[in-house]
Amino acid sequence: MTDTLELEISQRRAGILAELAAAASPPPVLVAVSKTQPAEALDAVLAAGQRVFGENRVQEAAAHWQDRRQAFPDLELHLIGPLQSNKSDDAVRLFDVIQTLDRPKLADALAAAMTRLGRRPRLMIQVNTGEEPQKAGVAPAGLPALLDHARTKAGLEVDGLMCIPPVGEPAGPHFALLAKLARAHGLIQLSMGMSGDYVLAARYGATHVRVGTALFGERIKP
Ligand SMILES: *Cc1c(COP(=O)(O)O)cnc(C)c1O
Repeated sequence: MTDTLELEISQRRAGILAELAAAASPPPVLVAVSKTQPAEALDAVLAAGQRVFGENRVQEAAAHWQDRRQAFPDLELHLIGPLQSNKSDDAVRLFDVIQTLDRPKLADALAAAMTRLGRRPRLMIQVNTGEEPQKAGVAPAGLPALLDHARTKAGLEVDGLMCIPPVGEPAGPHFALLAKLARAHGLIQLSMGMSGDYVLAARYGATHVRVGTALFGERIKP
């Protein structure tokens, strides 16, 4: 059973990496979205060589990775879900990249946590490209002010932008908008594209694609 899972995951991973390599040069980094995955799946994808992971929740990420990190010191953990300011310490302690900075208060809390803990995860700002009321992320029009606050007031370096396009809309225009915003603000990293559209995202210049289902198979519902 475990052998089958390992084989399946390693074949799916090889397929995704090949598609990414064919779509863009250099290809984007594959961020394996490991939320809700059981231990066997995490160990299988590690065995296949995967080292970069995305998680939505701080606590689940700690449960998945705190111990495994001892065995795999080259792990790189990305927070890709919304972060409450009062969890900033935990997030700064655990993650190497926080992709979901989206408001001034969180920038201040992260800056304070980084100073306290002496650890500086890389940061991306999540942009709500579809301006959906229920979705996290700063509206495109609010990006300049947030960037200025993060850089000038909070003293943070921001490396890039992340987006989750609206479900049921073509993703291309959202990827194009995110790439344009990044260029306009001198930001290098672009986290965009998930299981259904990572090849498209790679063609639009993604530096990171976040892939769960296409790598692990269907998620077990939490
Ligand atoms: C769950 C999740 C993903 C991965 O979604 P799949 O469709 O399973 O690839 C990517 N990004 C974010 C922010 C997510 O929450």
